[in-house]
Amino acid sequence: MSIEKTNQYILSNYGRFPISMVKGKGAEIWDETGKRYIDLFAGFGANGVTGHSHPEIIKAVTSQVNELQNHGNYFTNPKQALLAEKIIKHSFAGKVFFCHSGAEANEAAIKLVRKATGKEEIICFHNSFHGRTLGSLSITPESFHNGFGRMLNGAVRADYNDLESVKSKITEQTAGIFIEPIQGEGGVHLPSVEFMKGIRELCDKHNLVLVCDEVWTSPARTGKMFAHQLFGITPDVMTLAKAIGGSLPLGACVISDKYADVLGPGTHGCTMGGNPLCAAAALASMELIEKENLVEKAKELGDYIVANLKEKKLSKVKEIRYKGLMIGLELNKEHTNNDIVKESLEKGLFVAGAKNNTLRIAPPITIEREILDKGMEILAKLLA
Ligand code: PLP
Repeated sequence: MSIEKTNQYILSNYGRFPISMVKGKGAEIWDETGKRYIDLFAGFGANGVTGHSHPEIIKAVTSQVNELQNHGNYFTNPKQALLAEKIIKHSFAGKVFFCHSGAEANEAAIKLVRKATGKEEIICFHNSFHGRTLGSLSITPESFHNGFGRMLNGAVRADYNDLESVKSKITEQTAGIFIEPIQGEGGVHLPSVEFMKGIRELCDKHNLVLVCDEVWTSPARTGKMFAHQLFGITPDVMTLAKAIGGSLPLGACVISDKYADVLGPGTHGCTMGGNPLCAAAALASMELIEKENLVEKAKELGDYIVANLKEKKLSKVKEIRYKGLMIGLELNKEHTNNDIVKESLEKGLFVAGAKNNTLRIAPPITIEREILDKGMEILAKLLA
């Protein structure tokens, strides 16, 4: 019933499966017919820490919804301040701007980069993804631009993990570099430590603003609280969304002290950004990461999954790329990732596809071992 109404009333901009979800718990989700799925993609990463309906999130949100839901950003609220403090304490000295999504966090970062430098050229990367708003789309590959007319001036594309390519794009007009510390939608590609350190050095040398888009990779997913920490570098700006919200909509643009005064009063905003309800969920999720040592757990579980898959010598898998619970399985070209996604759904498992014929596994970090094993068993059979 709800599928018919969806088709009738809701925009067909997503390639949706004809499945209507009504209930979730941890890494399990149920559709309206009562069929259960093991969710190894965690709501596109947005439930990436807590899974569905985590008791700590229910407690935090229920208590907050009874106290205060929204007051607008003319005022402050303690949950927002405590959340910002936690993010800063785990990353680098600076200040946080809150919004609702990854694209919005990147919009804030683009404005900051332009205003801080008075320049417009931004180096971004082939195969990247930064969002669907016009600014964030401009620094996302051209294949996503079709039909939308002129993009922002100044996006210049370099090859990922190729420092010479980046160097060759730097001009007098370069303002900054936008990079995913691991490319997610592009098919889970990991850059080398030397490359990321090289990017940092180039930014220092040419006075460019380095923005790490950690919307998919953080917090905790890669086995570090924030993914830039994998490379021993500190960005000038870090953008967050998805899992930072503890399964509620929250985005954040984290700006180092050096640039923290650039977006002064009246220069940027978001009506409900960092509202107490979303901030309470996000704070509870960050506390859970600390309390249950989920940074370490993500690393352990990632190693466990990959060792398990490698041991099975799955014939359809060409390559496994991963860090913590950010896992990509590139398939041999005789098999398409989309077919495997569909077959998995039939068997009660959800994994997703990405570019380069890659399957993505990104379960909630709090997943129970028994459920994970069951999910991996289904997947292994399909990939054998
Ligand atoms: N940045 C990255 C790295 C992403 O993967 C995404 C979405 O997948 C975005 C930004 C956009 O996030 P949102 O969909 O919350 O706008």
